[in-house]
Amino acid sequence: MLKPRFQARYAAGRWALAAAMAIVVSCRGREARVLSHPHIALIVLDTVRRDALHAYGFPADVSPTFDAFGREGVLFEDAIAPAPWTLPSHASMFTGLSPSEHGADYETMLLDAKHVTIAERLTGLGYQTLGLSTNPWLTKFTGMDQGFETFLSIPWSMRKRNEVDKGSDALLQRLLFWNRNKRDASRPLFLFANLMEAHAPYLPPPEYRKAMAGPRGLAATADQSSLVRFLKHNLGISRMRADEVKLLRLLYQAGIIRQDLVLRRLLRMVERMAPGALVIIAADHGESFDEHGLLGHEFSMYEELLRVPMAVKWPSCLPAGRKVTAPVSLTDLFGMILKAGQQPSRCGKALDPLDLLPQARDPLRIRISECHRPVPMERLARVFSEAAVDSINRRRKAVIRGPFKLIADAKGERVLYDLRADPGEMKPLEPAAVPEALLLTSVLGPWIEAPVETARPGSTDHLPIQLQEQLKAIGYAL
Ligand SMILES: [Zn+2]
Repeated sequence: MLKPRFQARYAAGRWALAAAMAIVVSCRGREARVLSHPHIALIVLDTVRRDALHAYGFPADVSPTFDAFGREGVLFEDAIAPAPWTLPSHASMFTGLSPSEHGADYETMLLDAKHVTIAERLTGLGYQTLGLSTNPWLTKFTGMDQGFETFLSIPWSMRKRNEVDKGSDALLQRLLFWNRNKRDASRPLFLFANLMEAHAPYLPPPEYRKAMAGPRGLAATADQSSLVRFLKHNLGISRMRADEVKLLRLLYQAGIIRQDLVLRRLLRMVERMAPGALVIIAADHGESFDEHGLLGHEFSMYEELLRVPMAVKWPSCLPAGRKVTAPVSLTDLFGMILKAGQQPSRCGKALDPLDLLPQARDPLRIRISECHRPVPMERLARVFSEAAVDSINRRRKAVIRGPFKLIADAKGERVLYDLRADPGEMKPLEPAAVPEALLLTSVLGPWIEAPVETARPGSTDHLPIQLQEQLKAIGYAL
C-alpha cells in the first residue's frame, strides 16, 4: 500500500516515463523500447564476510562470479555493514537510516511504516519494483516488503537427504515466472534479491562439502552449526575445538561456492530481463569463526561481522576495473540507488563511482554500526541462565573514523582499535593515549547509554507459526 504522497508522485512518474519513452528500431530491425531511467538490481549475499571471497583475498577460487563482476565493474575495498545481522542491516539499505533511527531490530522486529523506503522512492519515479527473499526476516511480517509492488518471500523447502535447501532454486524459478507473467516492459525495473546459501546451518549439497572438507564435510549435520551450538560455544558452556571450528569454516566456504553459482544464474537472468542495469552486489553482514571467541553473527561488532564485500556494475555509466578504497557503508546504498534512478538510462558521460556516493569522498567520515541485544532474551533465558548470557546481552555500537574504531556497549565497556596497525582487533589501545578517542566517544549518543532494562525484550511469538519454523531452521528461535 503506497502512502498518499507517493501515490501522487507515482502517478506523475508514470506519466513522465511514458512521455519520455522513445520507440527506436534496433539493428535487428525489431522495435525496442528505450526507458528514461535505468534498470536497477540490488543483490544481497546474506552472511558473506569480505575475506570469504577470492576477490578480497580468500586463497581458493571459491567466488569466480563475484570476482569477475568486480573486475568488470567497481570493487569497493572498504565497505561496512550498519548492523551485524539481517533485519537492521537491510532496513538501513532500504531507508538510508542507521538502526537506531529506523528501529528495525530485535526490540521491534519491524520496519515502521513511517519510514520511506527506496522501493517507495523508485515507485514514485515510475519503476516496477520486485523483492525476492528466502530469508524469513525479510517478509511482510517484518515490514520489509514496504513499497514493493510485489514482494515474494520464498519459504525454505523441507530438508532433503542430509542437506538444507535454502530456497535459491525456488527463488530463481519464481523470478522467471514473474518475468514471464507480470513484468511491465514499459517501466524500468528495480529488483531486490536476498540469497541465503552461505547462512548457517552450513550444509550445502554433498558435492560442495566434499570438495571443501572431504569425508568430514560429507558427514556434517545441521546441528553442528545451529544457533544453540554457537551459543554454547560463545557462552563457554561447551567450547568447540580448533579443528571443529576449522571444519565449520570449510563448510561455510562450501556454501560460498554454491552461492556463487546461484549468483551466476541470477546475473544471467538480470542481464536478459533488465539489459544495461545498474547491479549492486553486497553482503548484509559477515560471520565469526572464533576470531574473538565467538561463532555466528550478531554477538559482536568486530570486523569479521562488519566488513562486507560490495561491488557495482553499470556498463554504460561506470568504469570497469576500478577499485575504490573510499569509506562506504551499506547505509549509503539508499542514496546511491535513488541518485542512479534519477539518471537517464544511458549516461552522456562516464560517471565517477563517488558521484553516486558523495559522502564517501571524505576519508575521515564517521561510520557507525549498531546492534540491540543479539537474540530474544526470553527465549535465551529458557535455555541459559541470565548470568551466562550477560556477556552477550548488550546493546552495542561501533564508531569508525579513518583507521580508528571504537566499540562500546551499554554496560560501559569501551574498546579502541587502530585497524591499520591491528586489522584483526587483537591489541586494544588505551583511549587516554589516543586523542581520536574523545571524538569517537562523543558520537555514541543516548541510544548506547540507555539502560538495557528499559528495552522491551524482543519476541518472535507474534510471527506466523510457519515463519517461526523457518527462523528456527536458520537457528533464530530457541
Ligand atoms: Zn543476514
